[in-house]
Amino acid sequence: MRSEKEGPSKPLPLYSSQEINRPYWDRVLGKIGETVRGTLPSVSEIGRDNPDPFRVLVSTLISLRTRDEVTFAASLRLFEKADTPEGMADLSEEEIASLIYPAGFYKMKSRHIRDISLILLKEYGGQVPSDRESLLALPGVGLKTANLVLSLGFRIPAICVDTHVHRIANRMGWISTNKPDDSERELTRILPVDYWIPINELLVLYGQQICTPLSPRCSLCPVVTSCRRVGVDKYR
Ligand code: SF4
Repeated sequence: MRSEKEGPSKPLPLYSSQEINRPYWDRVLGKIGETVRGTLPSVSEIGRDNPDPFRVLVSTLISLRTRDEVTFAASLRLFEKADTPEGMADLSEEEIASLIYPAGFYKMKSRHIRDISLILLKEYGGQVPSDRESLLALPGVGLKTANLVLSLGFRIPAICVDTHVHRIANRMGWISTNKPDDSERELTRILPVDYWIPINELLVLYGQQICTPLSPRCSLCPVVTSCRRVGVDKYR
């Protein structure tokens, strides 16, 4: 049976900007990188095979509130039929919905995917724009999606803050924020730019394997001495 322990009785202070300097990031993110194993998050996998901004954008939209394996299969089914704005605009909303089912909110996502395709054709010559403001103006696109398109689709440094990045950055004591969008702003202030793209993949895998949401595996964590364990009541 798994044994659970209580977290630190008194919260440790957050890190100061002097403490989280370049050697700190190299050491901590290096150790996390050596520890995580397995497959990349589905959108990264799709971006690695073919880092086309449109495919990254569409599969990120599919991934919202959807498990990784569902996202991956749904994206591949859809891309077999269409993986350009022209091809996507030729499909009906219903066809897109049936291809991406059972992704969460598949009807709303299919509408967004088709509407975005039409906007890209009409306003951007069939290309995905490579600036954040234009991406954020597209239907269904929030900061997380825009930053993933910039980072994976265009290799423009941007931090994609999902639930794992938000949780771990706060637990570690790097930042103190309530919302992922605030975490993104704070992380861009303190994290060296060359880690902006890889931090998402590192912390998503770390959050799935070690620093899990409910009862993190602190006894297996190679960065336990560099972590403030903020808000960790129970750990394994
Ligand atoms: S020590 Fe625990 S809370 Fe901190 S990063 Fe490691 S697993 Fe997460």
